[in-house]
Amino acid sequence: MGHPGQAQRSADPVIRYEQARKEYPDGTVAVADLDLDVHGGELMVLVGPSGCGKSTTLRMANRLVEPTSGRVLVEGRDIADEEPVALRRRMGYVIQDVGLFPHRTVGQNVGTVPALLGWDRERTRRRTAELLELVGLDPAVVTRRYPHQLSGGERQRVGVARALAADPPVLLMDEPFGAVDPAGRRRLQEEFWRIQRELGTTVMFVTHDVDEAVRLGDRIAVFSRGGHLEQLSDAVELLARPANATVADLVGRGRAVRLLAIGELEAVDLLPGAGAPAGAPAAPGGAGGAVPELAPAEPLRLGSRLDDALAALAASGGRPVPVTGPDRAVVGHLTADALLAALRRTTASADVL
Ligand code: ADP
Repeated sequence: MGHPGQAQRSADPVIRYEQARKEYPDGTVAVADLDLDVHGGELMVLVGPSGCGKSTTLRMANRLVEPTSGRVLVEGRDIADEEPVALRRRMGYVIQDVGLFPHRTVGQNVGTVPALLGWDRERTRRRTAELLELVGLDPAVVTRRYPHQLSGGERQRVGVARALAADPPVLLMDEPFGAVDPAGRRRLQEEFWRIQRELGTTVMFVTHDVDEAVRLGDRIAVFSRGGHLEQLSDAVELLARPANATVADLVGRGRAVRLLAIGELEAVDLLPGAGAPAGAPAAPGGAGGAVPELAPAEPLRLGSRLDDALAALAASGGRPVPVTGPDRAVVGHLTADALLAALRRTTASADVL
């Protein structure tokens, strides 16, 4: 999902860290002299092992943590001069377990910031319904429920809706999907990515999960202990070319599989032609040797993820799999060689970055 150049970028960063440092009285350096720009419309992921300063970095952007030295600018203004409450209203903040108000309904939770901003009831109600729909919940069903009447995944969705309620230019997210089971988490990631693209919100997203980072991030900032920024790059560059041993260690295992999750099929990879290649029955399907439970829900198309392509190949028992173009006509076939070509192309693109 995270690809360079997709987001709308403005020239001036929305968030800028200038030599921002956080040192605690006991001598712990949580963040070491960080220089980092987050551009408008960008989904920036901060990733690294526990305790490497990711949350501290995030929380310096809304003044939940004050830097010991250096400064943080939001939309060009030094936030040390801004009133923290007003600053936080301009920035959505989503954390693990969400922190929904337990004694308020879903509707009241999502309407919290609009109410603080003095929106009238009708406008707040409309916005709340719109956002619940956006995050995949039925307003008619959930608006009057209380948080304990929802699943963990539904609560996270409400948390995202609440953070987006006043259409903040910036969204800060700290392990927002950390408490959700793996399948629900993948779905949340996909939907959140789509919503972020649709709204163009600038997002800073903290996770310790490299898979989540490479799936979501336009750019990924890798931190190491002591709050050092080790690498700043897009997902392909990060996986194909870790900057040093520390980063390689973090992303190392499963790099090829992770590349499959972010690479996309292109026409150049495929065996050309609309008809099925000679001697090859159409696939995927229930043909002999097929693994139907691996078959993707959608037929393969140009732009499909390479991990879905691998699943389709497995489901076809290795037979060429038809791939459709924008008008749904078959434009070529996927084979094992074609998949390898796509993987090589994906990593090769890191050369030109
Ligand atoms: P991450 O989000 O990457 O897990 P944090 O930003 O939460 O890491 O923490 C960075 C470092 O700062 C950790 O070593 C943590 O123990 C330390 N730290 C956080 N808060 C305090 C504090 N109040 N006093 C001393 N050390 C702290």
